[in-house]
Amino acid sequence: SLPIIYAITPTYSRPVQKAELTRLANTFRQVPRLHWIVVEDSAQPTDLVRRFLAGSGVRATHLHVLTPRRYKRSGLPRATEQRNAGLAWLRQQYKPQRSAGQSPAQQEYPSGVVFFADDDNTYSLELFQEMRTTQKVSVWPVGLVGGRRYERPVVENGKVVGWYTGWRADRPFAIDMAGFAVSLQVILSSPKAVFKRRGSQPGMQESDFLKQITKVEELEPKADNCTKVLVWHTRTEKVNLANESKHPQDTIKIEV
Ligand code: UDP
Ligand code: MN
Repeated sequence: SLPIIYAITPTYSRPVQKAELTRLANTFRQVPRLHWIVVEDSAQPTDLVRRFLAGSGVRATHLHVLTPRRYKRSGLPRATEQRNAGLAWLRQQYKPQRSAGQSPAQQEYPSGVVFFADDDNTYSLELFQEMRTTQKVSVWPVGLVGGRRYERPVVENGKVVGWYTGWRADRPFAIDMAGFAVSLQVILSSPKAVFKRRGSQPGMQESDFLKQITKVEELEPKADNCTKVLVWHTRTEKVNLANESKHPQDTIKIEV
């Protein structure tokens, strides 16, 4: 059977949240064998997300972890705790059944692919076909990111040899969160690999994570040797609610 794709999506409450999740669900519903791990940045799971997932038609797991207030500042990486909660859930699901003399490294894990899917990006269906064949860590271009039309891994003779980027070219892996996938085997056999807060500079989340599990030479280029954009780092405009407090108020309460 097809390897399962686990899409880990951090999400937080804001006026556009349900619209973002709706767009994502409309994509994911069309992807075979996709398991959506939605991790709310909240102290408690919200009714909105719970109800949404129940009716989404996508196989989903609903988790939550609140980002500590000190990390909610501009310039700091977002959703570190939520992505780690997704990883922790996966590792818990596939906790080794220790039989005599078997180390975790020798365990046979089911085939699967883990992908970090922010709630505001735009994903083509073709992207999931590409990432499905990930052996260890695969990479591909991302559109509308890094102050350019796209960023991409530069590929020569089937190997990644550098990065086409307009921003911080010194990053060991100059790639956005949406630009790579990791096999479940790698996630489970490197249980300490996590996203880091401490010492992590802006834009270094991806590099700090990837250097724990792979080397540039090992990366598997997808999307025709990284020549096609199949995912876009779109960002949603902040909604204008300037008239929200103006009278008259509606007489019923509507979830938006
Ligand atoms: N996010 C979150 N808590 C926050 C801010 C963002 O969980 O306080 C999530 C957000 O829903 C998205 C991901 O983290 O899935 C990345 O955030 P955003 O899209 O704002 O980052 P950017 O596009 O600027 O990289
Ligand atoms: Mn975003």
